[in-house]
Amino acid sequence: MLNFDDKTAVAVSGGKDSVSLLHILAKIEKKHPKASLLAITVDEGIKGYRDEALKIASENCDELGIKHVVTSFRELYGFTLDEIVERLKRKGESGLTPCAYCGVLRRKALNTAARNVGADKLATAHTLDDETQTILLNILHGDVLRIAREKPVTDEAHPKLVQKVKPFCEIPEKETALYAYVRRIRFQSTPCPYASEALRNDIRQMLNRMEEKHTGIKFTVFKSMERIRPALEQIVKKEGLKECYECGEPTTERICKTCQMLRELA
Ligand code: SF4
Ligand code: ZN
Repeated sequence: MLNFDDKTAVAVSGGKDSVSLLHILAKIEKKHPKASLLAITVDEGIKGYRDEALKIASENCDELGIKHVVTSFRELYGFTLDEIVERLKRKGESGLTPCAYCGVLRRKALNTAARNVGADKLATAHTLDDETQTILLNILHGDVLRIAREKPVTDEAHPKLVQKVKPFCEIPEKETALYAYVRRIRFQSTPCPYASEALRNDIRQMLNRMEEKHTGIKFTVFKSMERIRPALEQIVKKEGLKECYECGEPTTERICKTCQMLRELA
């Protein structure tokens, strides 16, 4: 996933997974003088939640002597996530959840920030739990081709896309939490106020129940998808990436998902 001389940007939300990843990568990076590390936090603008996470992310960066870059939805898109949710309520929209907006807007924000600092890699702390949830989520949304694009090490399919790596993709969430507790790393434990609205939450609960009864089932889902992925990639490759007509960012459509969402909100 990482080369000895990579400049790696770590997406740090302030939660246990991302701060554990930051600490582990900082430890590894010390042994590689040509490598460098920095942290990126996206401030979505979620009152009473993101402020504390930002502070924790920043404290961890200071402790490790790592540069911390903060970017925000408001600065990039003109709206905080809270304002987006408010607008959706006023418009009587009930289709997409806050997480659907948040995920799309954050993905673009992270890529832009990583590209702006000249990073070779963008490391995210997606765990085995996140990966298996995403697989099932994409299937339940009828968006199976997305599974091909969201692999643990993405292809550099476009010069504007920073290669994404997921070093924790085979690490269960419980282990990242254990690491943080054992190392006494400070992390945010308050859940996002919008989290319970997401279908992902139902899938998480289902997978956890199944894992209790059938140990190893999350690995089985992940490994099964790794085997199917090459076939899905063949279909996705044919689609190719273009540049968004409005913002110039890479997309498979004429207008990228972010611009489509912002248009609807405006
Ligand atoms: Fe964004 Fe949803 Fe995560 Fe909250 S739970 S930070 S709204 S993706
Ligand atoms: Zn766009």
